[in-house]
Amino acid sequence: MGVQFQDYYEILGVSRQATEKEIKAAYRKLARKYHPDLHTGKDKKEAEEKFKLINEAYEVLSDPEKRAKYDRLGANWRAGDNFEPPPDMGDFFVYTSGGEGTPKSGFSDFFDILFGGAPFGRVARTGFRTGPLRGEDVEARLELTLEEAYRGGEKTIQISQREICPECGGSGSRGRGFCPACAGTGVREGEKTLAVKIPPGVHEGSRIRLKGQGGEGLAGGERGDLYLKVHILPHPVYTVQGSDLETSVILLPHQAVLGDKVTVPTLDGAVLMRVPAGTRSGSRLRLKGKGLPGKNGVRGDLYVRVVIDIPAAPTEEEKDLYRRLAALRTGGVQR
Ligand SMILES: [Zn+2]
Repeated sequence: MGVQFQDYYEILGVSRQATEKEIKAAYRKLARKYHPDLHTGKDKKEAEEKFKLINEAYEVLSDPEKRAKYDRLGANWRAGDNFEPPPDMGDFFVYTSGGEGTPKSGFSDFFDILFGGAPFGRVARTGFRTGPLRGEDVEARLELTLEEAYRGGEKTIQISQREICPECGGSGSRGRGFCPACAGTGVREGEKTLAVKIPPGVHEGSRIRLKGQGGEGLAGGERGDLYLKVHILPHPVYTVQGSDLETSVILLPHQAVLGDKVTVPTLDGAVLMRVPAGTRSGSRLRLKGKGLPGKNGVRGDLYVRVVIDIPAAPTEEEKDLYRRLAALRTGGVQR
């Protein structure tokens, strides 16, 4: 089965000339709309798929290097086209049906072929070495949501891996003929599901080692290790700045003028935050220690940016009160 071209600009609904800012804005808008936590039932599945695609598109278009590589494919491709890497581009990963230890990014096959994880295959070609040879270490990317990285826990991932054919023990033959299970190659492409324990508080770039899950050894050598490099997905509610987080809260004018207590979502659940009287739009209020665990063990802070909005449909009574306020401000006479 072929690999289908993905139109990342179309997915985010931006032009090919879009600026970084426009791309980010489009992403944030769509991510909020399709965040799986905001959907239930039949909708949820669809939202999940959409969310994944949006993240994939953002992953490429928000990274200048990836975007440049993607742009080099030219503008003539259409979503769903059967995609073959142009021969003159050279630096594609040869990812077909999955080489040994070829990690799956969790994104589309198109993404994998363009930006790949670990290069396909290796082992063999060891020249004159004899005796057991340890398999190679393989690195794959592990995408986590901010919540998963913060809380840790168990996550199931799939990797494709070439394994010695269990039917013929790798000889490639059964009786007098080829082994039908592996068509005489002695190896099979297998997909392996692994349960990964994620320690709480991993960072962008942290590596998780899975001993013995890497490349297969030769001549009785043990398997290499699989390293999962953590990549934290962009979050629709929080932006991450080192170990600090930022989010925003919407206040009505009276809350900003008189002060109030408002509910703010944090990674540990909602908390009640005091808004001092006279808070201006754009101020950043700090919730100490509600950020991410820092590398030094100290937790970062959560900054809450204040956005002041107006009541959507003020009642007559409210309007009347605003008129009185206006009159007070301008020194006008009130009936
Ligand atoms: Zn076989």
